[in-house]
Order: sequence, then structure tokens, then C-alpha cells
Amino acid sequence: MKYIFSLELIYILASISYILGLKMLGNPETARRGNLIAAAGMTLAIFGTIFLYQGEVPILIYSLIAIAIIIGTIMGWIVAKKVDMTKMPELVSLFNGMGGASAALIGLIEFQHYIGNQLSILTIIATMIIGSVSFSGSMIAWAKLNGTLKNPIRLPKYNILNNVLLIAILAFGAYIIISGIDNSIYVYLLFFAALLYGILFILPIGGADMPVVISLLNSFTGLAAAFGGFLYGNMVMLTGGILVGSAGTILTLAMCKAMNRPLAHVIFGAFGEDNNTDAVSNTKMKGTVKEASASDVAILMNYSQKVIIVPGYGLAVAQAQHVIHELEQLLTSKGIDVKYAIHPVAGRMPGHMNVLLAETNVDYDKLVEMENINPEFQSTDVVFVVGANDVVNPAAHNDPSSPIYGMPILDVEKAKHIIVNKRSMKPGYAGIENELFYNQKTSMLFGDAKSAMTKLLNELKNM
Ligand code: NDP
Repeated sequence: MKYIFSLELIYILASISYILGLKMLGNPETARRGNLIAAAGMTLAIFGTIFLYQGEVPILIYSLIAIAIIIGTIMGWIVAKKVDMTKMPELVSLFNGMGGASAALIGLIEFQHYIGNQLSILTIIATMIIGSVSFSGSMIAWAKLNGTLKNPIRLPKYNILNNVLLIAILAFGAYIIISGIDNSIYVYLLFFAALLYGILFILPIGGADMPVVISLLNSFTGLAAAFGGFLYGNMVMLTGGILVGSAGTILTLAMCKAMNRPLAHVIFGAFGEDNNTDAVSNTKMKGTVKEASASDVAILMNYSQKVIIVPGYGLAVAQAQHVIHELEQLLTSKGIDVKYAIHPVAGRMPGHMNVLLAETNVDYDKLVEMENINPEFQSTDVVFVVGANDVVNPAAHNDPSSPIYGMPILDVEKAKHIIVNKRSMKPGYAGIENELFYNQKTSMLFGDAKSAMTKLLNELKNM
């Protein structure tokens, strides 16, 4: 009784730490502490579960658990320490996949132990299907984020194929639950079918839909863990799973709103159509591109009253967050009103630009979300687009055949002058050309963001 009470108390403390941690993650100033608090709660829950478990546990099992924890901790530590900030989105996808795999393995292993208990088998089938889809889907998302899989891969009639496979998996799962089958082979078959669905589900997704899919996979992993918690009657696993699942779902809906994409469109695609609008565009833009030097841009900025900086993925690649902060401070010291325009899907993971700029202790009031900054472009002298491309592409407004058509973008075209810093004329993640670069008001400042901005800073300091 004493032990049960202790374990319950630990689970309550751990659950509180998750809720508190999650709440603190909502603000850049408290996010780091929130992360540590939730991690401490998780450590408490793991060790509480191991050492306060009531039943008899053979020493061999304890040894295996210890070995798994040691290997997992060392690997996780090394990977997280070594990873470049630019590789963070793929790492998050990989970790998410591991959560899905764990849930799927629980389902596979526990099936034999719960035969005859229909509710438990339902829970097991649910955790296994969702966990498997999340695992294989996250692995494909990982390959897409690190550039190994550059373009969407679409089999003929892929929409029909995927939806038929999904229905077949659900029907087969229902059959296993209802019929009370006790042969694990069926469960393994279901496991492999769900893995295949995860792969086929993510392969055809175009660059423009990836933010939604990443959040969706996140919520799948949470849901799978919650089913695991329900199966074991383990409150801390249930709470953790529900929190991840609901946070992921809220994020998915926020991403759908940001991309102006109905969720059903992303999941089921245009049923029955070989809709190829997400394929890499081959349209070649016409017109001339104006090039500017660092000194041209410095003069322009020096005589401005209002400058808006639009950061994008290239800022993270160049690791130029400190230089951009220095530029912002220098311009501010010259009496210029400077703000950052934050697009919800800029970068390669939700909140990427906020995380990046938080590293430099930027004043958070200067980070303005898209809905609030868009009306301000009209009264802006210079918009400085640094390593952003898709999030400022007017094709989202003007070209119905574009994969990003309908996505809200930052209306930088309304400013008096537009300066775009990138290394070349190459497209962004969605693989489409950007007519903004040919706009008469636009000048291109070519070069790596860090070195281009360092030159710009030096020019401005001498003025
Ligand atoms: P984009 O990928 O559209 O563009 C980034 C640009 O940065 C490129 O055109 C590249 O051009 C430039 N760049 C790269 N390296 C450097 C460098 N060292 N210095 C200067 N420029 C550089 O990024 P955005 O942030 O505008 O848009 C994000 C895209 O990613 C959207 O399509 C979104 O859907 C997608 N996405 C977002 C996710 C999220 O959760 N936020 C997740 C998955 C995908 P060049 O090579 O010529 O330098």
C-alpha cells in the first residue's frame, strides 16, 4: 500500500511537471526551464516505475532495462550534443519516430498477453497502427527534411491506393478485435501494413504541406503513447501521451490555418486525382534581376525610417542570427524603427525562427506574427528578406497552379524597397520560382547571409 501510494505520488508529480513544462514552452523566456522541468518529471517517472513496481521482476529483466537505458542515454546525449542547429528539425522528426516505434512494439509484444480481453486488444491494435504509421512516416519526413528525398514521389493513382490501404488496415484491425484471433502472425501482418501505409502516406506530400504533416505525426505519436498508458492503466504515460497528442493536434490545426490547407486535403489528398500541382515547378521566370552591393543596401537602410526584417530558413543555414541581431541593434541606435516579420512556417520546424532568434536574446516585442505585420508593409521603407523564399512568394496570391497557392504569405511587395539576401536564384523548399526577385522594387544582395550581413554591418558602422 505504501509503495502504491509512493508511485502514485511520483506519477502525479511527473504529470504536473509535464503540464507545467508544456505551459512554460509557450514563452521563449521560460522555454528552457520548462524543458528541464518536464525532463526531470520524466526521469522521476521512469525510475519510479522501475524501482517501485509491485510485482516480481527477474534480475535479468532489470539488467536488460539498465542496459537499454544506458545505451539510449549515451546515444541521445551524443546525438543531441553533436547536432548542428540546422539539423534540428530532422532530429526532432527522428525522435518522434522513435516514440511511434516504441508504441508499436508495445502493441506487438503485449498482444499475446491480452487475448480474450477485447477492450485491451482494441487498445493494442490502435497503439500499434498509429505508432507504426508515425514511425515509418517520421522516417520519410526525416529524409525529406535532410534533403535525401527532394521531390514528392507519387505512384500512379496514389490517392486511391493510399486510401484503399488505410481502409483495409482499419478493417483488418477490426476483424482481429472482433474475431478474437489468437495468432500473432495476423498482428505482424497488420504491423507491416501500417508501416507501409506510413511510407506511402508521406512520400507523395509536397514541400508546401510538410509543416502540417510534421505536426500531425507528432500528434500520432502522442496518441499512440496515450493508448499505451490506457492499456497498462499507467496514468503518467496516459497524461504524457494526451499532452503530446493534443499539443500536436493544436499545432496541426494552426499549421493548416497558416498554410490555408484543409486537413482532409493533406491526409487524403484529392481523392482519385493524379493532382501534380505539388511537383517541382519548371516554370522559368522572365525579366531581369537587379543586384545590389552591401554599400547600396547600407545607404538605403541608413536613410530609412522603418525597416522590416523577414528571416527564413537560410538564416538558420548561415547561423547568422547573432549578426542579424547586431544589425537590428545598430539600425535601432540610428533611430530607425526595426521589426522582424515571423511567418508561421518559415524555417523547417514550427517556431523555428523564434527559437533561432531567441538564442540572441532579441527583444520579443520585435518579433511580429504575420497577421499583425502584414498591414505594416505599406508604411515600410525597406524590407530585408534574409534566407526566406517560399514565405514571401507572391505565387501564393497570383498563380492558381502553384503548390503554395492560397497560402498566406508576408506581403513584402507592398513596401517601398525590397532587399533579398540569398546565395543564388535557386528556389526554396517548395521547389518553385519566385517572381518577387524580378519585381522592379526588388534588389538582390547575393551571398551567404552571415558574410553578406557582416559586410553590410561594416558599411553601416562607417556611415
Ligand atoms: P525556403 O526553403 O523557401 O527558402 C530558403 C532560402 O534560403 C533558399 O531559397 C536559399 O536560397 C536560401 N539560403 C540557404 N542557405 C542560405 C545561406 N547560407 N545564406 C543566405 N541564404 C540562404 O525557406 P522559407 O523559410 O522561406 O520557407 C520555409 C519552407 O519550408 C516552406 O516551403 C515550408 O512549407 C517548408 N517547411 C516548413 C516547415 C516548418 O515547420 N516550418 C517544416 C517543413 C517544411 P539559396 O540556395 O539561393 O541561398
